[in-house]
Amino acid sequence: MSKRRVFRFAPSPNGRLHLGHAYSALCNKAMAEECCGRLLLRMEDIDTERCTPLFEEQIIADLHWLNIEWEQPVRRQSDHFADYRAALDELRDMGLVYPACFTRSQIKDHVAEYEKGGKVWPRDPDGAPLYPGNERNLTSAEQQDLAESGRPFAWRLDMEAACARLGQPIGWREAGCGPKGETGHIPAKPQAWGDVILARKDTPTSYHLSVVVDDARQGVTDIVRGHDLFHATSVHRLLQALLGLPEPDYCHHALLVDAQGRKLSKSQSDTGIGALRDAGRSAAEVIRMCETGARI
Ligand code: GLU
Repeated sequence: MSKRRVFRFAPSPNGRLHLGHAYSALCNKAMAEECCGRLLLRMEDIDTERCTPLFEEQIIADLHWLNIEWEQPVRRQSDHFADYRAALDELRDMGLVYPACFTRSQIKDHVAEYEKGGKVWPRDPDGAPLYPGNERNLTSAEQQDLAESGRPFAWRLDMEAACARLGQPIGWREAGCGPKGETGHIPAKPQAWGDVILARKDTPTSYHLSVVVDDARQGVTDIVRGHDLFHATSVHRLLQALLGLPEPDYCHHALLVDAQGRKLSKSQSDTGIGALRDAGRSAAEVIRMCETGARI
């Protein structure tokens, strides 16, 4: 008998759920039910300042109200920093991680200076400039000094070295589609992201690192999420390959938009699940709004 497929909904408890989150949770639920699979819930709360127990409680209440059930226990990322640290150490032992100390404004200045001459500095798929620092070229003693100097820094992946270590192309099976309709076998292009952050001095992990560690730890076989994370999948596949983690299947779905065609955000209270419930909408109505709402 083949093993049951495992799905997960992974919100960040740094605000209330809106219709877009509910749509994603409902997609996971429907797909899990269709194949008699399991549905897990994971709280992505590595940002311990912005994520709060109250938001977590409200998310759980909203999901229950929408009749979405999941297996217990809920995995909370803030309980697993040691797991992420171990994965970071593995990558460091491979010589693929370095301490980088350019701040956001230093990066901005560097890029502005470069672009003065009419040249264009490369941007990642989200539009942010690639990391320009050259600390990756420091000796390991110099890197250690920097890490111990007390200056704020981030641990970044040496993307070129990471891709070279892998030495072969990677990709993923896409059952949904990307923003441009990409589907089927998708070649991963992690280089497009440059030297991504894997951890910070004060936050021992990043979204990219914790998501791949958790999906593997939780035995997730199917990742169903919005296509705003389609391109990030290239980084996730690279980390999975480097860390010897299993390859899940991916299904990216369209994003719900508001009446002006804008992506929903946690600060727009009128599309919040709690606000809709308080305004007298029934769960069935909200589910219908998710199913029929405008999307991109
Ligand atoms: N925590 C992410 C979010 O709320 C989702 C991560 C994922 O599904 O991989 O957007």
